[in-house]
Amino acid sequence: MGGLFGPAAAAGAAVRAAASGPRQLVRPSSGGPSWTQERTLVAVKPDGVQRRLIGAVIQRFERRGFKLVGMKMLQVSDPPCEILAEHYQDLQRKPFYPALISYMSSGPVVAMVWEGYNVVRASRAMIGHTDSTEAAPGTIRGDFSIHISRNIIHASDSVEGAQREIQLWFQSNELVNWADVGHHSSSYQA
Ligand code: UDP
Ligand code: MG
Repeated sequence: MGGLFGPAAAAGAAVRAAASGPRQLVRPSSGGPSWTQERTLVAVKPDGVQRRLIGAVIQRFERRGFKLVGMKMLQVSDPPCEILAEHYQDLQRKPFYPALISYMSSGPVVAMVWEGYNVVRASRAMIGHTDSTEAAPGTIRGDFSIHISRNIIHASDSVEGAQREIQLWFQSNELVNWADVGHHSSSYQA
């Protein structure tokens, strides 16, 4: 964990994001259903960190069966917050944009990369509607948040968006490709 994103780092991230093409891990089909492995960016926003909800968020993704392949805590407080400007580039003309940047830089964020089958779509369902008032009970926003401006969590909304956001927030060497190697009690040898 750790690390501040300065303007240079953010600019570098932007270059990496532009240079790299879409990334999708495809497991070859051997006659059964084809399993498309995706990765997505999930971030516990400052209100989620302040309210000690990091563990609850991680627990939901782990219980669902997704694999954590990257995680770090960072504070994006330096105006003009290049990483946030890039992250929310599509929202820059929205009236709530200044308040959004202020909120997102008000405290640390925990950024994570989760991997798994259809994780982009599944994680959007898990976090719930953007407007917490509309978010269904059982979703993260529906369970923990009451207002659109303090909605706890971010998750990428498309495979292409996820690829862009992962490259913006993470260096490639901060992501870990790990495999299950049988650390379950049933596989222990005496
Ligand atoms: N947001 C806000 N007011 C609005 C709409 C959005 O404060 O009227 C914030 C909110 O934090 C939201 C973020 O802007 O999560 C990004 O908006 P987007 O439409 O991308 O929603 P999301 O993908 O996070 O569900
Ligand atoms: Mg969005």
